[in-house]
Amino acid sequence: MILLFIDNIFSAKKPVISFEIFPPKKDSPIETIYNTLEGLKDTKPDYISVTYGAGGSSTNRTVEIAHLIKKKYEIESLAHLTCITSTSQEIDSILSSLKENDIKNILALRGDLPQDPAIAFPTPLHFRYASDLISYIKSKGDFSVGGACYPEGHPDCESLDNDVINLKSKVEAGLDFLITQLFFDNDKFYNFIDLMSKYGISNIPVSAGIMPVLNTKQIKHITALTSATMPKKFLRIMERYEHLPEALKEAGIAYATEQIIDLLSWGIDGIHVYTMNKPEIAKKITENIFNIRKCITN
Ligand SMILES: Cc1cc2nc3c(=O)[nH]c(=O)nc-3n(C[C@H](O)[C@H](O)[C@H](O)COP(=O)(O)OP(=O)(O)OC[C@H]3O[C@@H](n4cnc5c(N)ncnc54)[C@H](O)[C@@H]3O)c2cc1C
Repeated sequence: MILLFIDNIFSAKKPVISFEIFPPKKDSPIETIYNTLEGLKDTKPDYISVTYGAGGSSTNRTVEIAHLIKKKYEIESLAHLTCITSTSQEIDSILSSLKENDIKNILALRGDLPQDPAIAFPTPLHFRYASDLISYIKSKGDFSVGGACYPEGHPDCESLDNDVINLKSKVEAGLDFLITQLFFDNDKFYNFIDLMSKYGISNIPVSAGIMPVLNTKQIKHITALTSATMPKKFLRIMERYEHLPEALKEAGIAYATEQIIDLLSWGIDGIHVYTMNKPEIAKKITENIFNIRKCITN
């Protein structure tokens, strides 16, 4: 098995193309993820990331699926890991499990503050911010570590400037690459990169997180979770096809594709597609990125 660190992939290729998947729910068999992976494997992404359910709901599944991606599909994997509710002993145990499973790449996250009062926090907290987890991981082993960033600011932070100042500490804690929150307005992303550079963050690859919008339920979910600006042309599509699911899906794919083509022309380091475990959509969207990359590198 070839072991690859994601920071090495960024050094070798541009753009790096990656997908995000999530583990099946606790009560669904793990095998349900096989269909997703079977569908994604032929596109040969540079890596696939696997989300992590805070509170331990999918901990083992994240490691298991990340291992499967490497072993069975021979694609590099990135395991997400959150820390806000964890003790350092719990993090140690997950890091050991990642090592045993040959997983070399971790997306180190704080995680959302749990709203459920039944979820216990260590007191005092062992990890307050993602930066605490990043320096901890770096002190514990040889991992390539990525972090999240927010082109329109993290919802808990009072201003985008302060969020970027906090991002600087996070990068300095030892990050190797960044993946953005989803956005629908590329100008927000370009302004964010300028702001990063204003605050002295420039030597780190950034992948743009792109989520194709496929149905109205998903739009409501996105609106509740993020403050992503929806440009007028995007809203027109959503309104026009609200009751025409097939048309909405096609228009959502076309919108994401257009966003990506613009990002490629700008010179983006990487594109990270939030696949929602739908391989056919990921395939449609990435087909032309792969073609463009082939032309650039030939
Ligand atoms: C690409 C991506 C993947 C994700 N995957 C998952 C997943 O698998 N599972 C999951 O549960 N969630 C996931 N999330 C959501 C993420 O956990 C939440 O957005 C969470 O609220 C913040 O995590 P973070 O790592 O960005 O936190 P941090 O970087 O710690 O930032 C959190 C907040 O604290 C502020 N802050 C940071 N450092 C300091 C400091 N030193 N002093 C003061 N304030 C500070 C920041 O400005 C921000 O407002 C993902 C998000 C993204 C963008």
